[in-house]
Amino acid sequence: MGKKIIKVVLAIVIVIIAVMLIKALSFTSRQIKTEPAGNFAVDTKNVSQHLSGAIKIPTISFENEAEIKGTEFLNFHKYLERTYPRLHKSLHREIVNNYSLLYTWAGKDKNLKPFILMAHMDVVPVEAASKDQWTHNAFAGDIADGYIWGRGALDNKSDLMGIMEAIEGLLAQGFQPQRTLYIVSGHDEERGGNQGAVKIAALLKARGITPDYVLDEGMVITDGMMPGVSSRVGLIGIAEKGFISVELIAKGDGGHSSMPSRETTVGILCKAITKLESNQMPARLDGPAKHLFDYVGREMSFTNKMIFANLWLTEGLLKSQLQKVKTTNAMIRTTTAPTMLEGSSRDNVLPNVARAVVNFRLLPGDTPDSVLAHIRKTVNDPRVEVKPMLKQIQGASPVASINSKSFFAIQKSIRQVFPDVVVAPSLAVVASDSRHFALLTNDVYRFAPMVLQATDISRLHGINERVAVENYVQMIKFYMQLITNSQMEK
Ligand SMILES: [Zn+2]
Repeated sequence: MGKKIIKVVLAIVIVIIAVMLIKALSFTSRQIKTEPAGNFAVDTKNVSQHLSGAIKIPTISFENEAEIKGTEFLNFHKYLERTYPRLHKSLHREIVNNYSLLYTWAGKDKNLKPFILMAHMDVVPVEAASKDQWTHNAFAGDIADGYIWGRGALDNKSDLMGIMEAIEGLLAQGFQPQRTLYIVSGHDEERGGNQGAVKIAALLKARGITPDYVLDEGMVITDGMMPGVSSRVGLIGIAEKGFISVELIAKGDGGHSSMPSRETTVGILCKAITKLESNQMPARLDGPAKHLFDYVGREMSFTNKMIFANLWLTEGLLKSQLQKVKTTNAMIRTTTAPTMLEGSSRDNVLPNVARAVVNFRLLPGDTPDSVLAHIRKTVNDPRVEVKPMLKQIQGASPVASINSKSFFAIQKSIRQVFPDVVVAPSLAVVASDSRHFALLTNDVYRFAPMVLQATDISRLHGINERVAVENYVQMIKFYMQLITNSQMEK
């Protein structure tokens, strides 16, 4: 009898291993083979100086609206006009809501759906306290040691100037598009985009424009950041997380701290926060994250392929591993982040009201309502009021297709200009202006052709922002290639 059981168990184990092996062996690369990149001439010195000049104009989105200088944005418009004369002759420019820009490059074939390239023109301020830590002045636009330095070098003037440079270059070569192309450049992305991108999206909607796809910033080419993959990885964001901030308010007896109740408002509030931290929204390996691991898993070692090709068996184990690292954790769940706390203003005063703010970043599939329900159920304390902050609610974006011709065009363009780069769909964990374009099409992609290493991440919105000259030239070539590849019929 015992022998029989051992035999059955052994047979099951053999079958499982056989299935895993077969699945891993057929888990072959999703990377496409492409013809070489087009022969695009880019004058490195010229284009670097153009970007440097753009950085010198401080188009800053200050937190305090009164500090924002409209004249700098108008200067920036004039600078674009001077720098790209061909573009300004051939494309139709509209100024939307005083400072945002919408360009139309009319295609010859009106039956083809247009496409939209986006890049905002505003930058975040430089903190006064950090000024000394910049190797090069943030608004000097220095070109040194193979880099173009300054605020906006990455976020997002290199994209905007890169797109403009690509069009100027294509026009010089006599290129005329079949398909209409819109360039959208908002002036308040760093403040939420309500004055710029929102207005332009509404304008295009009113005109009945249904673009084939939209491409904006959001994800990049990562260098050495994807565990298990030795190549650089170009991540195309096919969706963007949403957010909701919720106030937790505990009310009770205030008074002198010499005679506190057993539970104070601060204590009650902290218990609620602890409950939320220890009972997070469940991790889910689906949607964009699943696509990501499906693409990158195929580029890994055989052992890793065994894991990623056999999610039917390994999903639980994989999720528990992904949850341990904050970057991958953010890809597979709606995150919980307590960010603000308020009690009394004196050490010997018990507050009547204690208040906290918790910020949640929504995975596609979770909604502000489902998160609120989760919070109420988890806190489960009538003494704690749960109050959503109405201005801080944004659902996750729709998920763009990975089987569309436009996804293919982006993927192909990356592979042509960066032949060693592995391309994968992904989830953008930060917000961009492109979310406002969901009303025009589902196929909104988030990718900028900039190469970032882990140490570069802190340069975004931080100090010593810079882009490598070599990378900037590749960015321009990427946009030339993408515009060319996007002409295919549909
Ligand atoms: Zn940006």
